[in-house]
Amino acid sequence: MSEHTTQTDMEKIVSLAKRRGFVFQGSEIYGGLAGTYDYGPLGVLLKNNIRDNWIEKFVSSQTNMYLLDSAILMHPRVWETTGHVDKFVDPLVEDIVTHKRYRADHLLEEAGVSDASSWTPQQMNDFVTKNNHKSPEGNPLGPVRTFNMMLSTKVGTVEDSASVVYLRPETAQGIFLNYKNVMDSFHPKLPFGIAQVGKAFRNEITPRDFIFRVREFEQMEIEYFIHGSQWKETFTFFQEQMLSWITSIGIDSSKIHCVDIPDADRAHYSQRTIDFEFEYPFGQKELFGLAYRTDYDLARHMQESGARLEYVDEVTQEKFIPHVIEPSCGLERAVLAVLLSAYREDTAGDDVRVFLDLPAHIAPYTVAVSPLLKNKEKLWNEARDVFEMLKKEFHHVVWDDHGNIGKRYRRQDEIGTPFCVVIDFDSLEDKTVTIRDRNTTEQIRISKDDLAGWIRARIT
Ligand code: ATP
Repeated sequence: MSEHTTQTDMEKIVSLAKRRGFVFQGSEIYGGLAGTYDYGPLGVLLKNNIRDNWIEKFVSSQTNMYLLDSAILMHPRVWETTGHVDKFVDPLVEDIVTHKRYRADHLLEEAGVSDASSWTPQQMNDFVTKNNHKSPEGNPLGPVRTFNMMLSTKVGTVEDSASVVYLRPETAQGIFLNYKNVMDSFHPKLPFGIAQVGKAFRNEITPRDFIFRVREFEQMEIEYFIHGSQWKETFTFFQEQMLSWITSIGIDSSKIHCVDIPDADRAHYSQRTIDFEFEYPFGQKELFGLAYRTDYDLARHMQESGARLEYVDEVTQEKFIPHVIEPSCGLERAVLAVLLSAYREDTAGDDVRVFLDLPAHIAPYTVAVSPLLKNKEKLWNEARDVFEMLKKEFHHVVWDDHGNIGKRYRRQDEIGTPFCVVIDFDSLEDKTVTIRDRNTTEQIRISKDDLAGWIRARIT
């Protein structure tokens, strides 16, 4: 009897991710650099598939969306103008004995103070002092203060006179800075959107939970420009679109919760924010966000840079600064939620078969091709022929002739390959192949000529 389980925990995912070449600790051979991860061959394929799918859904299949790739380093005045220099801060508290630093709100939440994240640093400080709240090591804590999360570096060749610049903490500002360029080159009519996928950097006080909270990550963001009067229906539209995309890439929708963020907790630029939270093994936390940023950013940039950023409606001649709805998705959190949602164990007696139930269009490899025996030349040649044929049709076809066939199936199951094609002795006689389904492990025999069509019909 086979027992099916979807139970997951982080250790299993972290171990599979490393063992099978998805995700490695950054700078591992030097002991690691906290908050950084490297993506191995399969991690890159998985990430690319998720990213490409996002671009396809939100940009390529639309008629009013534009892509952008702006610089990571931007003029320092950008971040003064947007308020990031003053307000992009987290509450920090230090263990005065070990000098270990913690996010004060996380520390208090873990100690059972459920609403700590909505407190001001002063309120947290008062609580810590009044209750003589200790660090996880049991030591006294210093004062709660604010800590700016932007990472900085210097540009210029002479160290002394070089100026400090920030690594962007969000991709959004690159879009606002290029709003006028896109307007001048393409003359789009409202509503339209500019989308950008790229790296963002945050000096998180305590990076943790594998790739959930890291210091270097990738965002997929859209600034959708509208007339302010249309913000509510546009917000609802994107909420629905994001939910449908989340499900389409294989994230378990029963673990998604849309949480309206109360006034006190919202970013300074937002008039409404919904967090799409996911039930991770370490708690229900943000996966993606959707914000109504009003005209805050364009208005501030217009004020500080002097550039004219208004839009003139051709019909009504109304001149106004567009408002913005911003869907914002973290690629690493998407990868994590996809892996957690896909992880399966089938137990039969002592035998545990691990597989990733990834949708075929998201899996790193769509199909694996093997000769039944690798040392039989005719089998090998015929398998190679099938492999070359499929490679012409599908991006991600993998050749696998390591170990025996059972081991190959297990390996492909663990990395989520939906189909394994095997060429055996019958194949040489009747030009058929066997194709095995990852989830059911059932095999069918089909003609070589029908193979590509059969697979194509199953990739959605
Ligand atoms: P959190 O509250 O978890 O710190 P946030 O509200 O600061 O997240 P946003 O500023 O809304 O996050 O960023 C948009 C998206 O970028 C998030 O929904 C998330 O997917 C991703 N993201 C933000 N910070 C990180 C991080 N440190 N590591 C990985 N992804 C991140």
